[in-house]
Amino acid sequence: MNRLLVVAAAAMPLSVVPVTGAVAQNLLISNARIIVGTGQVIEKGAVVVTDGKISAVTEGNAPKAPKGAKVINGTGMTVIAGYIDDHRHLIRGRGPEAVQKYLKEQAAKDMLTMLESGVTTVQSGGDDNAGILELKRRIESGEMKGPRILASGQVPTAKMKDEAAVRALVNKVVKDGADSIAEVHYPDVVWPYAPTEQETRNLAAGIDEAKKLGVEFQVHAVSDLSLVATVRMGAKKLVHSVNINWVTKEQAREVAAAGAQVASITGFGSPNFNVFSQDNQPKFRDGKPWPEGIVDAQGLGQEAGYMPVNLRTLYDNGVDVSYATDTTFDARAALAHELKTLSLVFSPLDLVKIMGPNSAKFIDKQKELGTIETGKIADLVVLGGNPFDGFWNFLTAVVVVKGGDIVIDKRGQPDAGKPIARAM
Ligand SMILES: [Zn+2]
Repeated sequence: MNRLLVVAAAAMPLSVVPVTGAVAQNLLISNARIIVGTGQVIEKGAVVVTDGKISAVTEGNAPKAPKGAKVINGTGMTVIAGYIDDHRHLIRGRGPEAVQKYLKEQAAKDMLTMLESGVTTVQSGGDDNAGILELKRRIESGEMKGPRILASGQVPTAKMKDEAAVRALVNKVVKDGADSIAEVHYPDVVWPYAPTEQETRNLAAGIDEAKKLGVEFQVHAVSDLSLVATVRMGAKKLVHSVNINWVTKEQAREVAAAGAQVASITGFGSPNFNVFSQDNQPKFRDGKPWPEGIVDAQGLGQEAGYMPVNLRTLYDNGVDVSYATDTTFDARAALAHELKTLSLVFSPLDLVKIMGPNSAKFIDKQKELGTIETGKIADLVVLGGNPFDGFWNFLTAVVVVKGGDIVIDKRGQPDAGKPIARAM
C-alpha cells in the first residue's frame, strides 16, 4: 500500500506538469552581441525577459536581473531573434495511419531538431490537415517540445472539381482550426506552364475565399508567368523562388507593387552532399540524384541558378523576401542548405532582415516576432559565432529560447557553438 502511494505521488507531477513548462521563465542574457534585427547591432549588451516577453534591451553592463531570473553569460556570443521558417512540410505521410505512426515514432525527434537549429516558429506547408492540428496541439499543450506552429490547411485547388468545392474546403479547414491555407502548385503541371481554365478559376476562388475569412493563402508559383498570374489573382504569400525562367525587373516591380511577399526556398534547385548518403554525390533535398532527379522540370540543373538570382531580382525591385525551406529533410541540414544558397546573392545583413522581420511579416506576426525589441515574444537564439563573419555562423546555436523558456541549452557540450557542417 505504502509503496503504491509513493509511486503515485512520484508519477503525478510528470503527468500534470507540461514538459516545456506553461509558465514562462524570467531571463537575463548579459554581455552578448545583440543583432536587434532592425539594422541595429549592439556590440555588448543585455536582453531582459519577463513573463515570456522582452522587457528590456540595453547597451553595456547588464541591468539587474528580474526576480527569479535565469542568467546566461553571453560573453563572446551573439543573440539573434528566433528563426522563422515560413513554409515547411512537418508531417511525413497522409491519412490517419501514417500520421499516427509519424506522431508516435518520429515527430518528437524532428521537432527537437528544428529547435536545435534555432527555428522557434514554423508555418506548415499544407500537410495532412488533421495531423498538423494534432502536432500543433501537442506542442502547445507541452506534451511535445517543438517550435511554435502555424498550421496550414491544404486545399489542392488544381486537382479539385470546381470553385464551389474549393470554397467549401477553405471554409472547412479554417473552421477546423487552420491558421492559413496552402495549395499545391499553380499550375498543376508546372513544366511547361499550362494551367487549365478550371484550375485558374479554382485558385482565384480559393484566394478570394481565404481573404473573406481573413486568413493567408500560400501559393507555390514556380515560374515567372505563374508568379505574375497569381499576384494578379490577389495572392500575397508566394512560396518558392521562381525556378522556371528569369524574372524580369518589370515582373518583380509588379509583385512589389501588389504588396506580395516571396518566401525563399532557394535550396530547392541546388544540390546537397552527404546528407542522404556519404558518397560525395550531389542530391536534391528529397534524396534524389541531382540534376536529373528533379520533379516537374527538365533535369538539367538550371534551377540552381534561376532561384537565387530571381530572388535577388525580386528583392532589388522592392519585394519583401522571407525565409522558408519547403522540405521535410533534417532541419539542421535544411537550414545549412538554404543559407548556403541564399548567401550566393545576399549578405549576412540581408539575411538578418530576411530571416527576422520579413519572415515574421509573412505570417502576420511582425508585431510579436522577428526582432529583439521590447514587448516582443522572447524567441531568441544565442549563437557561438558572429553571423557577420560568415553565414555559417547562423548555424551555431548554443542556447535557444522560445517564449522566454530555455528549450535548448548546449552550454558546456563539446560541439556547442560549432557550425552545423551537414549539407554544406
Ligand atoms: Zn510546399
